[in-house]
Amino acid sequence: MTEQGREAQIQKILEKYTTQGFYEQMGISPGVLKISEEVCGHLKERFAQFDQTAEANQLKVIGAMQKNRISAEHFNGSTGYGYNDAGRDDLEKVYADTFHTEDALVRTQITCGTHALSLALGANLRPGDEMVSISGKPYDTLEEVIGIRPSRGSLAEYGITYNQVELKEDGSFDFDAIRNALRPRTRLAAIQRSKGYLTRPSLSVDQIAEAIAFVKELRPDIIIMVDNCYGEFVDVCEPSDFGADMTVGSLIKNPGGGLAPMGGYIAGTKECVENCAVRLTSPGLGREVGASLEVNRSLYQGLFLAPTVTAGALKGAVFAANLFERFGFRCIPDASERRNDIIQAIEFGTPEGLKRFCEGIQAAAPVDSYVTPEPWAMPGYDSDVIMAAGAFIQGSSIELSADGPLHEPYAAYFQGGLTWEHAKFGILKAFQKLADAGLIREL
Ligand SMILES: *Cc1c(COP(=O)(O)O)cnc(C)c1O
Repeated sequence: MTEQGREAQIQKILEKYTTQGFYEQMGISPGVLKISEEVCGHLKERFAQFDQTAEANQLKVIGAMQKNRISAEHFNGSTGYGYNDAGRDDLEKVYADTFHTEDALVRTQITCGTHALSLALGANLRPGDEMVSISGKPYDTLEEVIGIRPSRGSLAEYGITYNQVELKEDGSFDFDAIRNALRPRTRLAAIQRSKGYLTRPSLSVDQIAEAIAFVKELRPDIIIMVDNCYGEFVDVCEPSDFGADMTVGSLIKNPGGGLAPMGGYIAGTKECVENCAVRLTSPGLGREVGASLEVNRSLYQGLFLAPTVTAGALKGAVFAANLFERFGFRCIPDASERRNDIIQAIEFGTPEGLKRFCEGIQAAAPVDSYVTPEPWAMPGYDSDVIMAAGAFIQGSSIELSADGPLHEPYAAYFQGGLTWEHAKFGILKAFQKLADAGLIREL
């Protein structure tokens, strides 16, 4: 072969190996890709802000690890009772220092976010107490925890009553109504940062700070619990910086950084956290027991990665809002709104649209990309739910995932992405599925 011929051959191979070429091989049409690049072009400033927050939070986490002199020994696990597990115990100090709280309980024995919240409530309320949600209806699964929907073992069965203050029309706290709702028996006020499966806006840390100050001024004895699911590291501050007595979340969301294989955390006052510890294990045993097995390293490394993973997820969410809004889909938050969590809701208005979106997210996954998501009656939810996730950690929602209940307005709640690149691909794949089904106007 001539030198020229060889060069031409090399050139031909190189042409195939462009980003655009890979997208095309992965089923993204040139038209969709062109729209994508236009959208991305407008997002540089927003992305830079997310990177800045990640930078600050990265330092916060490293500082907490250094302060607690984390070393290789901390990655050794424990078995059996789990006595003297320095890795587990010091991880709790690292969480406390990251969230700027007196104490924290971070355990793999806390099975999920609902369990962490249920534990925080059950451990700190006593028969005759009342809890009040001051951010409206709580997350679906908490309805059974509280007993809003009658359920075996609910707080209601233990004689703990519940009251609810709706958010105002614009999604802000209704301070007058909160004042009126506080009764002598009120022992705990709950605030949910993220919208969950609702289409209200998620609350900012500033708004939460104001609500905490308001309640504490009226009633310093009331425990404030914040459901922080999906909110961690979205901001440089956390609700715990403003006096929340308990800040609660799941390790298979933001703070686990995608590496934590399970678990939940409660960061807060010594008093509240101790109550949670004895409730999680047993009175008298408390936090002294609970083997960490082999997972300490993943929990530390996941927390270390969490700030940048969260930034990647935020980029994906903003990209999705900007892409879909352009084609007439209502997005919550909208394309330009400030972010208070990593969740992006997109309303499709039809079951078909919601299903296609989820199929696209699934088809873009590194794991289980070949399966088709189907709606099912998931425990804890009162209507069928469709979920898309091809994750390394089952059910992890810091990994790229989408879900939505099969009822009006047929909104997909989309979140996560361990890398921005994967989030982008998933969103494009979902967009392509809708386009192929003729569900995108103007295409
Ligand atoms: C995910 C979530 C929960 C519950 O977490 P699970 O781990 O799914 O049990 C609670 N509240 C909010 C706002 C959530 O996003």
